[in-house]
Amino acid sequence: MFDPAVPVASDCGESASPGFETVRAPRRAPTSLDPAEWSSLRAQGHQMLDDMIDHLEGLSGEPVWRPAPAHVRAVAREALPVAPTDLSSVHATFMEAILPYAGGNLHSGFMGWVQGAGTPVGMLAEMLSGGLNANLGGRDHMPILIERQIRDWVREIFAFPEGADGLFLTGTSQANFVALLVARTRTCGMAVRQSGVAKAARLVAYASNEVHGCVPRALEMAGLGSDALTRVATDDAGRIDVAALRAFIRADRAAGLTPFLLIGTAGTVNSGAIDDLDALADLASEEGLHFHIDGALGALGMLSPEIAPLLRGIERADSVAFDFHKWGHVPYDAGFLLVREGGWLKDTFASPAAYLTRAETGLAAGGDWPCDIGPDLSRSFRALKTWFTLKTYGTEALGASIAENCRIARGLAERIAVEPDLELLAPVALNIVCFGYAPGGVGGDGVINRAIVEDLHAAGRVAPSLTLIKGRPAIRAAFVNHRTTADDLDALVEGVLRFGARHSPRR
Ligand SMILES: *Cc1c(COP(=O)(O)O)cnc(C)c1O
Repeated sequence: MFDPAVPVASDCGESASPGFETVRAPRRAPTSLDPAEWSSLRAQGHQMLDDMIDHLEGLSGEPVWRPAPAHVRAVAREALPVAPTDLSSVHATFMEAILPYAGGNLHSGFMGWVQGAGTPVGMLAEMLSGGLNANLGGRDHMPILIERQIRDWVREIFAFPEGADGLFLTGTSQANFVALLVARTRTCGMAVRQSGVAKAARLVAYASNEVHGCVPRALEMAGLGSDALTRVATDDAGRIDVAALRAFIRADRAAGLTPFLLIGTAGTVNSGAIDDLDALADLASEEGLHFHIDGALGALGMLSPEIAPLLRGIERADSVAFDFHKWGHVPYDAGFLLVREGGWLKDTFASPAAYLTRAETGLAAGGDWPCDIGPDLSRSFRALKTWFTLKTYGTEALGASIAENCRIARGLAERIAVEPDLELLAPVALNIVCFGYAPGGVGGDGVINRAIVEDLHAAGRVAPSLTLIKGRPAIRAAFVNHRTTADDLDALVEGVLRFGARHSPRR
């Protein structure tokens, strides 16, 4: 415990704090939110940690998902608490009403959408960063240096040059939006920040028609409007048609528009397709466009020597957006944007503000702050859970689990090929398999796939999602989870066949 008689220790040989020889034990503020005595909080904290570790250890015995019954949903309608409640009682409510009814993405049977599975290490790191409650907007403290270290590691993963900069953002939706603003500033000059896009040239952007929905929304948020996005056709493998893209750019330029941004996708959300990034880099440089890559899902494939060759050309991008919270399994949220020249970010975001004045020394030192290179001022310590994840597991293990997900996807495609009542609906490039129930090889309108997916969710063993392939409902199994095994694959195939037969009018 704190002893008021002992001076504040300093092990760095400097006099710790001028003018503070000793620090008197502060009184506890009468309105402080800390406990008056810590021992019962400590015991409760250990209990909460144990309960969560028990949950992670016992995941495989639980359903992937279960619907919350009415009496549980009622918990989310309780009145604003005015009086205190004992922490142990609040935690008991969490254990009964929240923990069993979460979205299921931790579970090995979760193969719906593209979601990270989290890790025990990430969870523990989240507790530490919650305890620190660091604000990563700026100032001179160690958490800022840890985020810069992650930036350097990211630079290395994508073979970007020294001058590249980047930062954590909530996710790739936000990172794509920020990249778009950077591309706008590069094209129009910094004055566009004051004068706005309405007075600027008529900017147009390009991506494939498989581009994620957050990209048109980014154009809407930037005031350019989603009509400013040309969605180019894709080939049978879901990759952008580069010849058609070139023709669009030429035609738009001839019509007096200003092409400014080309967005390639490294792992489309629908089928995992990877655009020909090298060809896009060539075209962007010929045409003088900012080349951005949406690598939300696939970019961390760089950690696997097996997958990295599929991403050739990513090192030539002007910016890459990706999510540590997807294939990196860092707890939500942990999106990242890497930009080839740090100056582009500063040109887009740095603003003087009296209350953010920098000093030579002291807490207000530290040169450029993260708030100079992105839209947020207050920022959480997303870097810590990422730092713990990278250091504890190492990139090799993370890459191996990515490669294993892709192997499982290929295994499913092979099962579908030999199973007469299933049909593969899109080529498998990475980790996503789109398929359907097709008794005797006849898939029909695919509507049965909807019912099958709903049945699978209700049964609680595996949870794929639904998508549309060429307008027809398809079962979509996205393997992102490091816990998924061949057993989960068996359960998926058996479940689809069983529920399919039950719904099939032909049986
Ligand atoms: C998930 C995803 C996004 C959106 O990322 P968030 O982190 O959810 O904001 C964008 N693009 C692709 C290809 C994705 O898979």
